[in-house]
Amino acid sequence: MTKWSLKSWREKPIQQVPSYPDADALRAVEAQLSSFPPLVFAGEARKLKKQLASVAAGEAFLLQGGDCAESFLEHGADNIRDFFRVFLQMSVVLTYAGSQPVVKVGRVAGQFAKPRSSDFETQGDVTLPSYRGDIINDNSFDAAARTPDPRRQTMAYRQSAATLNLLRAFAQGGYASLENVHSWMLGFVSDSPQGAKYESLAQRITETMDFMKAIGITSDTNHALRETDFYTSHEALLLGYEEALTRVDSTSGDWYATSGHMIWIGDRTRQLDHAHVEYCRGIKNPLGLKCGPSITADGLLKLIDRLNPENEPGRLTLIARFGSDKVGDQLPDLVRAVKAEGRSVVWSCDPMHGNTITAAGYKTRPFERILKEVQTFFEVHRAEGTHPGGIHIEMTGKNVTECTGGARAITAEELQDRYHTHCDPRLNADQAIELAFLVSDLLRK
Ligand code: PEP
Ligand code: MN
Repeated sequence: MTKWSLKSWREKPIQQVPSYPDADALRAVEAQLSSFPPLVFAGEARKLKKQLASVAAGEAFLLQGGDCAESFLEHGADNIRDFFRVFLQMSVVLTYAGSQPVVKVGRVAGQFAKPRSSDFETQGDVTLPSYRGDIINDNSFDAAARTPDPRRQTMAYRQSAATLNLLRAFAQGGYASLENVHSWMLGFVSDSPQGAKYESLAQRITETMDFMKAIGITSDTNHALRETDFYTSHEALLLGYEEALTRVDSTSGDWYATSGHMIWIGDRTRQLDHAHVEYCRGIKNPLGLKCGPSITADGLLKLIDRLNPENEPGRLTLIARFGSDKVGDQLPDLVRAVKAEGRSVVWSCDPMHGNTITAAGYKTRPFERILKEVQTFFEVHRAEGTHPGGIHIEMTGKNVTECTGGARAITAEELQDRYHTHCDPRLNADQAIELAFLVSDLLRK
């Protein structure tokens, strides 16, 4: 194998690249980005890796989630706060009911680039480049909007910095204190069945905290009650942007992606000898690898060799995304092969991307299929004696109608009411909390 360098991915075949009309403008933006401050620090990525190592050891659970793609238009404090509230609620449900530490990783503050199944989109007799996420072009169906514009990378960088700044403040400035466990409830969730269930769990936490306070353990003396560790992640799809934000860590001398704490390789760009795997193998962050129906046990082991040759625990999270009808057939072979070779990985379940259908003209995901994939994922791991280590979901704190089903039973006809995503359909706050309760039941079994 050739030696890794920051630019060695540029010598490899690559999928999913936008064609920028002005190569000089692209180079200028990349040069500017490489002079900008890092968004995250190597020490934080190492801390996350350590926490993921405890997931790999079966001692913690990974909750990873957020928008399919962030957008420039929806960038605002309320959206970030509402997402974070639901994320905290889910993690409290999982921690309390599952009695395990929850490692919290958002798909946020950098999740802007989208892989597409086709390079072009046709409407009537007009064909234009596909929308590839706000970091590349605009979703409106006109030629100027769809032309990749490198200046969007700078906008995505700045939006990521602002989002991360608020999330850090929420996580460490008191908002995430367990004393606020009741106040994370969103208005529209409070009168739902999940709302009542959450409220009773929150009440038990408050009683426990009152008891702890009585014996002298308070949020003033114990930072675990007052603040939480929250990490960011995104798909490392736009490699020029990633390269510009890849830096040498001064303490270890190693290369780190500083665009987010954890980055993952998508299902469409995980070819062993291609650019995305090449870039990722050289950086030391925790990595995710999406594993969809076309992966084989042999192919997976080669990827593990390439991405985690030293078998470092916490380095690699395998994100299974087969679909509820395939996971039971396909996952066991992979789990067995990885276990037989003694490879340390986190197994996580993405129950979203294999369960997308069209209903009433909308791209949607039936909640019962999402649940079924998670259940089957747990059953497979129980049968193989391995740890069902986490879930990876697309969710929002907004009261959207994008996935059908759930306790409020959104029908295909109701999708039109509040269908806001311009990418994949997300769980709304109710559905996300309902999923957390179901997972916590599975964790207890
Ligand atoms: C995604 O996570 O939004 C995505 C495109 O997933 P995958 O690579 O698994 O298709
Ligand atoms: Mn998606």
